[in-house]
Amino acid sequence: MILLDRVTKSYGKDLKPALNRVSLHIEPNEFVILVGTSGAGKSTLLKLLTREEKPTTGKIVVGGIDYDTLKDKHIPLLRRKIGVVFQDFKLLPQRTVFENIAFALEIAGMTNREIRNTVPKVIDLVGLTGKEKSFPHELSGGERQRVAIARAVVRQPKILIADEPTGNLDPRHSWDIVRLLEKINKYGTTVLLTTHNVEIVNKLKRRVIAIDHGKIVSDQAQGSYRQ
Ligand code: ADP
Repeated sequence: MILLDRVTKSYGKDLKPALNRVSLHIEPNEFVILVGTSGAGKSTLLKLLTREEKPTTGKIVVGGIDYDTLKDKHIPLLRRKIGVVFQDFKLLPQRTVFENIAFALEIAGMTNREIRNTVPKVIDLVGLTGKEKSFPHELSGGERQRVAIARAVVRQPKILIADEPTGNLDPRHSWDIVRLLEKINKYGTTVLLTTHNVEIVNKLKRRVIAIDHGKIVSDQAQGSYRQ
């Protein structure tokens, strides 16, 4: 599903590489947690996957798409395979829950009928039925993150990248979000989660990949994490 072969990313000739010959293989339907201190290279890795950044050297293949031969016009196709959620939700403040999610489908050219059919299903999946007409400012942090997750998965991506999705949430809401990610994973989506939350990492008992100074320093099934 995700393959990196000796990937190096340097942001400038005189800078130390943000990623240094990283090789990695993630199977379809895995749930992987990416850990590492600030500046370790996690965001760079995620940006390479979403093609916001290009590697300096090395090979990347995601969902059968070889990035070496990927043309710019095919990037939307790639982004369709990868849903992303962030710590700060990035919702549209003037739009309701329904509209925030529908927006992703409007851009994709879906008809109103398809949108009316699809959005309630994903709202149900994330447990927000009844909140369709609420605006983001009327929701708790945990609910906002659920909307962001709904928007990220509404087009049924193969991969969901969750970059510190619990960073702004209290422990209870954090666990709600993690359980939701597990549910989405169970339905067949590969999940890549970054987090600094030691308790979440240690309780989840999932594969944990630790990055430090641009290198993978450990990769354990059912891994644990100390800060
Ligand atoms: P993390 O997400 O683990 O905090 P990053 O991938 O953001 O780590 O950063 C890894 C290294 O790359 C850091 O030294 C950071 O300063 C550097 N870096 C990240 N983005 C850029 C950029 N756009 N330009 C220059 N250096 C960058």
